[in-house]
Amino acid sequence: MITIKSPREAELMARAGHIVADVLALVRSRAVPGVSTWQLDLLAEEFIRSHDGATPSFKGLYGFPATLCTSINAEVVHGIPSRKRMLAEGDILSVDVGACIGGLHADGALTAMVGEVSPGARKLLETTERALAAGIAAARAAGHVGDIGSAVQQVAEAEGYGVVRELVGHGIGTQFHEEPQIPNYGFPHRGPRLMAGMTIAIEPMINLGRPEVRTLPDKWTVVTVDGSLSAHFEHTVLITGNGARILTLPSQAPAAQPTAV
Ligand code: MG
Repeated sequence: MITIKSPREAELMARAGHIVADVLALVRSRAVPGVSTWQLDLLAEEFIRSHDGATPSFKGLYGFPATLCTSINAEVVHGIPSRKRMLAEGDILSVDVGACIGGLHADGALTAMVGEVSPGARKLLETTERALAAGIAAARAAGHVGDIGSAVQQVAEAEGYGVVRELVGHGIGTQFHEEPQIPNYGFPHRGPRLMAGMTIAIEPMINLGRPEVRTLPDKWTVVTVDGSLSAHFEHTVLITGNGARILTLPSQAPAAQPTAV
């Protein structure tokens, strides 16, 4: 069922979204060589719970054991934080996190660079972030879900990258995963109609090589079949009569650039 959120629900999701954006920024700043993904997970859980009434959405969801999904290099999504997984110079680390406040969820992700990464990796990250922006720009009331996927797919495939098909974005609200599904591929004017008050997570997963993925024997970690790098960026957005409003924004606007005098 597709749900329409009240203004009060949307504002709770924006509060959860601030926590998501802030925890992602925190984890990105601590994603340096020698740190384990388990340490990052502890930090994230502590940060989320330091906000009155806030809880990590992932912990226990379908039995997932952690606050963050941490996916390194050819891991696409759903990597499990581990004491044994240390970040190394040149890695890319995809971090996915959800936060819940007042019974409403927000979901966000980014791929962080650990130290200096290869030019190819950097371009993959930049392109995936650009694909997300294109998807958000295509999301509007009276449009269709296919408008989003088509926009994401065009940006990614123009660079020759593979768009993951098996995993998709989703509606989000009182349930972490709601209808409709939001694929990162498709055709304009196809799929469910978007309506003001819908809240959806748009989350391109883009591979440097081919699009195919498989799940490791831990039953969680999804990796590229060809071993190529993969990137993941995600925002939760509210569909309005005037385009899409990003709910997973930092609580503080970035500091203004100092002006020369
Ligand atoms: Mg999501």
